[in-house]
Amino acid sequence: MARGDENIMLKFPIYLDNHATTPMDPRVFEAMKPYFIDLFGNAASRNHSFGWVAEEAVEKARKQIASLIGATAKEIVFTSGATESNNLAIKGVAEMYSQRGNHIITAATEHKAVLDTCKRLEKHGCRVTYLPVRPDGLVDLDQLRDAITDKTVLVSIMYGNNEIGTVQPMREIGAICKERGVLLHSDATQAVGKIPVSVIDDNIDLMSFSGHKMYGPKGVGGLYVRRRNPRVQITAQMDGGGHERGMRSGTLNVPGIAGLGAAAELCQQLMPQEMAEHAAMRDRLKDRLMAELDETYINGSVQHRLPHNLNISFAYVEGESLLMGINDIAVSSGSACTSATLEPSYVLKALGAGDDLAHSSIRFGIGRFNTNEEIDYTAQKVIDVVKKLRELSPLYEMVKEGIDLTKVEWAAH
Ligand SMILES: *Cc1c(COP(=O)(O)O)cnc(C)c1O
Repeated sequence: MARGDENIMLKFPIYLDNHATTPMDPRVFEAMKPYFIDLFGNAASRNHSFGWVAEEAVEKARKQIASLIGATAKEIVFTSGATESNNLAIKGVAEMYSQRGNHIITAATEHKAVLDTCKRLEKHGCRVTYLPVRPDGLVDLDQLRDAITDKTVLVSIMYGNNEIGTVQPMREIGAICKERGVLLHSDATQAVGKIPVSVIDDNIDLMSFSGHKMYGPKGVGGLYVRRRNPRVQITAQMDGGGHERGMRSGTLNVPGIAGLGAAAELCQQLMPQEMAEHAAMRDRLKDRLMAELDETYINGSVQHRLPHNLNISFAYVEGESLLMGINDIAVSSGSACTSATLEPSYVLKALGAGDDLAHSSIRFGIGRFNTNEEIDYTAQKVIDVVKKLRELSPLYEMVKEGIDLTKVEWAAH
């Protein structure tokens, strides 16, 4: 068989960036379709069937989502996505409970939608503790315990990390927060629909999620807000018609919400099967890469990890050059030039990775529509390109000759 023939079934580019967004499942699209044209009603219209039909779709979606996360339908607030949900949860709690205290605890590896929201609140008189993480990416529970004061109103710790896939010990974190009487918010955008998440078992009081990270539409998401033990209140950040029990005004995105509901139901049905399949593909990729390439490091805990995430640093290779070499595969890199800022990934740096390892990292995100053939093609391509790039690397050559780079005195600084 000629080289390339084995790839005849593959479609390019191969999409392995499922943490950035997931393709929409065609079944989700089918569930949304009627609500664009035929069933166009406003879910807040109380006086006619157009409104009732739309409201029915919204209430169905609320139940589908609640079922996925162990909540009740009334505890779901629809938003435009996880960025808005994070803003609403954190700002909403800070404002509502400002008499009780002004201290918030979060972690250094959170999504920018959490970190920048906290930074904004610092300008308005809040005090924020950014917990460091251990080298495996997990929060140290003793450090969390020690950080809580009688002024702490909220702990915000993400469920699964969007870069390195680490899954925080939410159950333990929830137990600590409950014991200390502090509210817990979790940005669970990468976890909901992918691994079992239960707001009851984990004692989570507020939780963010997003449609487009779970094979649903973009521009729609939600916030879980606990109604019992304790009843959580938040100050609305969007004022208007009093939709969503006053927590988020604005006409509901009925097709989007119907899609989010359908996406949640599908994820719930497929989860046991998908978790196993994605973990198997991830390990297939990891094992191939690790077997063929030396000086290759997995970022973040291998054990406490989303099944579909692999984040690897290939030492002595620039992330940019590697990305260019594998440009028929869509992945992302922790290096500077792929992001809007000039800093390499702050998440990898928080693990204690040096700039060079952060620069040489690639994030693979496996999803519902990937195949073993795509994984095999990707593994071989990455191996070929890394080997080629290392042939051109004087540093790699020196290391192979047994020179300790940390002991080298470089001329001309
Ligand atoms: C994608 C993502 C967000 C932002 O979600 P949007 O719905 O795109 O606003 C927030 N947090 C995490 C962890 C994410 O992965």
